[in-house]
Amino acid sequence: MANSLFIEGLIENDRYKLLAAPKSDLHNHSTKGCSLAWVEERTGHSFPKPPLRFDGLEGMQKWFTSYIKPFCSGYEGIVLRWEGAFAEAGRNNIKRLAMNFGAEEIELAGGIDDFRKLIEVFRMKHCPETDFEPELTYISSCDIDEASDSIDKYLQSGYFKSIDVCGGENIRPFEAFLPLYRKAERYHLIKRMHVGESGTADDVRRAVELLGLDEVHHGIGAAGSKDTMRFLADNHIQLNVCPSSNVMLGYAEDYKDHPIKTLVDNGVEVTINTDDLLIINSSIENEYLKLYEAGTLTAEQLEEIRIRGLTGRSK
Ligand SMILES: [Zn+2]
Repeated sequence: MANSLFIEGLIENDRYKLLAAPKSDLHNHSTKGCSLAWVEERTGHSFPKPPLRFDGLEGMQKWFTSYIKPFCSGYEGIVLRWEGAFAEAGRNNIKRLAMNFGAEEIELAGGIDDFRKLIEVFRMKHCPETDFEPELTYISSCDIDEASDSIDKYLQSGYFKSIDVCGGENIRPFEAFLPLYRKAERYHLIKRMHVGESGTADDVRRAVELLGLDEVHHGIGAAGSKDTMRFLADNHIQLNVCPSSNVMLGYAEDYKDHPIKTLVDNGVEVTINTDDLLIINSSIENEYLKLYEAGTLTAEQLEEIRIRGLTGRSK
């Protein structure tokens, strides 16, 4: 059987083929989902390249607020970055895109109806054929009572397909988020959470069991336990992994020894994603190429992952 365009692209180190192959991005924070090149082009400002390593999530946030945000700040800056995230989806042939938005960002856009109209203009302009799955995200330090009281107005719209909690692990016990995840369940959302980025295999398993997660954002900590990996594999809990983010934040040593290899070898279903493209500065085709060039995964394994991201299946 002939190699797919994507496998050829990996083997031949041909970015045009990798760009042309349909891909997914299922872990993408919308306000940081555009490329640095997009902001450079639109603002005329040229940015320094990010360092090879950040000092954890805080270090990354500090870099963003010091070097990038001042040139694309306020609501106008958010809108510029939102449009850029869809432009990247168009440029990189991202055919399935799950992108997350915070409630306060939706309010900045004038509430759910105006927000939806604005986002749909960008989607139609840049990637009309992309399956777009908006995700509603809350930071882990949010006011959960307030959030679970006001979440209905967002979910009743039917626009959101998944829920997420991000912004640091082990801020409070997983049980504290139950009111939000119960609401998400009522609206038939895919339930995701950032866990196992800095946290352990045990954290991943407990979050999945307690909150009924369907998928995990990151989850690489699971590679530390055969039992947890078996649990995830048996229950088809997909991990939406972001290799460069993990390496730059110091949660993975390097690409070659990235935990994604152990996860794949143990039958855990994974996808490959960008996380914060504007900061990490590694677009989706580059994420696959990095893992291929480091010998972490074979072209065939990466092809399976690409197909799973598009279809939810690996074949
Ligand atoms: Zn993330």
